[in-house]
Amino acid sequence: MRSVSMPPTACTGLEPGFRGVICASFGAAGDIAKQDTGGRPRHDLHFASATPNTLSDLRTVLGASHVGVRLVLAGPQADIRAAAAVAAECGLLEEEVTLLSDEAGPRVVYCPHCLTTTIDRAAGSEVECQGCATVLAITDHFSRRKGAYLGYSAHAEEAS
Ligand SMILES: [Zn+2]
Repeated sequence: MRSVSMPPTACTGLEPGFRGVICASFGAAGDIAKQDTGGRPRHDLHFASATPNTLSDLRTVLGASHVGVRLVLAGPQADIRAAAAVAAECGLLEEEVTLLSDEAGPRVVYCPHCLTTTIDRAAGSEVECQGCATVLAITDHFSRRKGAYLGYSAHAEEAS
């Protein structure tokens, strides 16, 4: 039986077989330090934003971690949403990932009509879907699976 070569971890500082909580924050998010890890070891990562490079680093960290690891993502929604997608790619389950979105930043709104997500930079109560141009009312329901707020057609009743 051949030994399996370990993925490179030198650049991440994460010990092989880490089974604690990985706390990744983006931008100016600072409150993640208060996140309760329930006494489990934690590994902090901080990125300025979710870029192909930083997401690649995150992928390396998650690839080096073992089953049972938990991931906490904090920062602007667009960033943590991209990071959550990487986590899903790496096999983390939805319940293993906690998203702490920065409410002050732009929100991401999911359109149920064309399944597109639109970044709402105006932080209003409505946003025009970039996929189908439907004016979406933004609900308070945040889908952790989609990493976005769910929208619905704001003027559906008026149009009928
Ligand atoms: Zn749409």
